[in-house]
Amino acid sequence: MQPIENKSDPSSGPGVSAANPGGQPPYHAAMSTPSYRHAAPSNACPRCGRNLTEMPVHEAVVLDCAACGGCFLPTAVVHALGRADGHELRRAFPVRPRPAEPAAVRYLKCPLCERIMNRIDFAKPSRVIIDICSEHGSWFDVGEISGVIDFVEQGGLERARQRLAQERETEKAKLKTELSEAMDPSTAESLLMKRVFLP
Ligand SMILES: [Zn+2]
Ligand SMILES: [Zn+2]
Repeated sequence: MQPIENKSDPSSGPGVSAANPGGQPPYHAAMSTPSYRHAAPSNACPRCGRNLTEMPVHEAVVLDCAACGGCFLPTAVVHALGRADGHELRRAFPVRPRPAEPAAVRYLKCPLCERIMNRIDFAKPSRVIIDICSEHGSWFDVGEISGVIDFVEQGGLERARQRLAQERETEKAKLKTELSEAMDPSTAESLLMKRVFLP
């Protein structure tokens, strides 16, 4: 486990460790300096209401609920989870299976600002819906992080990206066909266009 912070040593700080003296890899920069250090009015678990505690994971710090197994991750950590070079971070999360009965669907409050979070798909076919506060991070119910990690490790994110790119290409090709049909002088649309543009 990396030291998270050492106030007595000025050369030590977030992202600085024995393995990485004096510097920090790009995505680690924001992971161990979560804004909740400065916010945190309640730190209550959005799911069960117990107290959340800081849990170091690799070079990040997350808010963990020991009672229900849910976790609140700063946005930088959520992004790092999906990155190709985030393997070490993904491996560092404790494996927690999803319960047979999924948690009741309801809107949860951000543990930091207590605003209602948005529910979104982590990535289309991952079947993991996370709760997002645009300012602070995302809430994962017990097992959801493990679900996301399995999905990413099995190349799901890459496949989702490829599918999205393919959909965009198809959409572009369709638009092009429609446009060229509209420009075709034999079509009614083009007659209409001539009337509009060449009076
Ligand atoms: Zn909880
Ligand atoms: Zn918030």
